[in-house]
This record gives sequence, C-alpha cells and structure tokens, in this order.
Amino acid sequence: MKNYTRTRPIKLSVAAPAIVCAVLFGGTLLPGAGAQRNYPQQQRRGSVQQVTVDRGTISRAESYTGDRFNYFTETPRGARVAAVNRPRAEALRAIDEGLADLFAAASRNNYRARLNYADYIVFIARADRTRDSTGAYSPDMAFDAGSYAGSVYDRGGSIYAAGMVSSYNPGALVVAEHERDFGRMANVVRYEGEHLILYHNDRRRFQETADHSRGGAHPILR
Ligand SMILES: [Zn+2]
Repeated sequence: MKNYTRTRPIKLSVAAPAIVCAVLFGGTLLPGAGAQRNYPQQQRRGSVQQVTVDRGTISRAESYTGDRFNYFTETPRGARVAAVNRPRAEALRAIDEGLADLFAAASRNNYRARLNYADYIVFIARADRTRDSTGAYSPDMAFDAGSYAGSVYDRGGSIYAAGMVSSYNPGALVVAEHERDFGRMANVVRYEGEHLILYHNDRRRFQETADHSRGGAHPILR
C-alpha cells in the first residue's frame, strides 16, 4: 500500500495507507492533465444533519481528496454519507444497492464481519473528469501515480481512480459524484467495499488484492 496525493493543488498532511482503484470498467484512462488544473477555493456551506462521522475520518478523506465534505446524511438503509454537495436520492439508493451486492458477495465467501450498512461511511467527492478516453460517462478522481508510476495506468504521473478506501476503522470509501449512471456508482461502492470486507475478514487475501498495479481487479469477491 502506498500513499496517494490527489493531483491538484492541495496540501497533503496525512500519512496513512490508502487504496486507490484505478481499474474498474476496462481501465481506459485519459492523459493526465490533472496536475495543471486549477480549482476554485471551496467554501464551507450547506447543512449538517445529526449524522456521526468522527472528525479524524473526515479529515483524512479531505486530505486525500482536497475536498470539503459539508453535507452529512444517511442512506435509506443506514449507511453514513458525507458529500461535497447535497446528494441526490438516486445516489443514496445507489450506495445501498452497492452495499447490498457487497454483503451478498461477502456472504457467499463466508465472510461475516462488517455486513451492516451502518458499518460504512461513503464520501462523495468532486470528479476531476466525467468522461474517459472513449467518451463514456466516467466520473473519476485524479491522483498522483504512486505505485502505478510506469504502469499501463500511468498517464503523465496521474491516474484516474473511480474510488478509494480512505479508512479501515471505521470503514470509509470515496466515490466521485455522479449525475447519472447510478448503476456505475453502485458498482464503485461495491468494489471499494470489497477491500474493507477483506481487511476485516481475510487479511491475507486483503494484502494480495490491495494493490492493483501488481495485477488483479474488481470484482474480487464472486
Ligand atoms: Zn480496488
């Protein structure tokens, strides 16, 4: 596992393991122009509901993404959500759908830990691109290449990630904001969740599958 920095002007102060998943749906990636992009300063705004996400977990996700998560809510089934903008109802349902698929796959593999919606925190971050190199809708986040440097995923020092794991305890993952194709969003949640399920149920398999630059892709759990 390596540390990753999002390729836009942010300060990274947190040194903690993170999983970045660049490869999800064919893995075609745009040349990395992320480092040159400029983003306006985000302002604190929005409503905060009575949803408990500890400050450290929020800070870590903000350090990785350079985003500010101002909106806190829950999915209909009780997963906690922190988002840069007020999440659409479709997005909340997609998170539940992805977790439902994850729990079913975990059960098929006889994994029993972390099978509750309330075990998960999902951060919805800004997308650095919305289309992949084929023109398909693909909201992704740009990160420094890290351990992917020199690999097929390396695009000028950047990789585009559909999602990442930002914390293991509590289990938290990051997905880019979707405006449509919520089935894709559900898949990203399910796939990032696989790393968390493996971390808490099968540490050896977790280690073997954590770094996609060494091979392997999602779905890991069949
Ligand atoms: Zn992954």
